[in-house]
Amino acid sequence: MIRPKYYYVPPAPLRKIFRSIIWNSTSDNILISIDDGPCESSTTKILETLGDSGVKALFFVTADAAIKNRLPVKEIIKQGHLIGNHSFSHKKLRFLSGHVLKKEIVDSKSAIEDITGSPVVYFRPPYGAFDPFVLKAITDSRQKCVMWSLLSGDYLGNRKDTEKVIRNYLNSDSIIVYHDNLKSKNTIIESLKSTIQIANEKDYKIGEPSECLS
Ligand SMILES: [Zn+2]
Repeated sequence: MIRPKYYYVPPAPLRKIFRSIIWNSTSDNILISIDDGPCESSTTKILETLGDSGVKALFFVTADAAIKNRLPVKEIIKQGHLIGNHSFSHKKLRFLSGHVLKKEIVDSKSAIEDITGSPVVYFRPPYGAFDPFVLKAITDSRQKCVMWSLLSGDYLGNRKDTEKVIRNYLNSDSIIVYHDNLKSKNTIIESLKSTIQIANEKDYKIGEPSECLS
């Protein structure tokens, strides 16, 4: 059974209060974002699925995972996707000391850039947890905070529920979140395929990350 709407779609007042955050695609195209990778058991399959459909995605990787799995990160880039920063070690960023916050937001950026060889511009806080201090640290490090307008719930492990959520709440400018991690590994592939199909049925386009965040 699916949860209440606000679990998947951030409430409008929250989006209005934090206007500096990117909540929706800035073009009339859907953005697919995939958090938490790279993951040994799922990244390759995800790349195959996206490749078969000609879809490009934004992968928010953690520096920890990227350092451990450099090759998949390079493969993500080679296949024309974009890499974003999802912190160093996937901590909740609220209430951290300045020193730890710097590691999670700034040092992670440099560590990922050392692997990708190109600037990292977009940051997504783990668990979507932020406060004004976190947002300032993101902006000061010349990254842009990207949240989402549609959480797929893939990590809850029920493919049918995820499909229902996408069918109910997908818009032409949605930023959808999936997960490249152990919790989602049995649902993400089929969920990605059904999302691409639902977007086609609704005549929505899935955009390239750079055009969705320009
Ligand atoms: Zn995450």
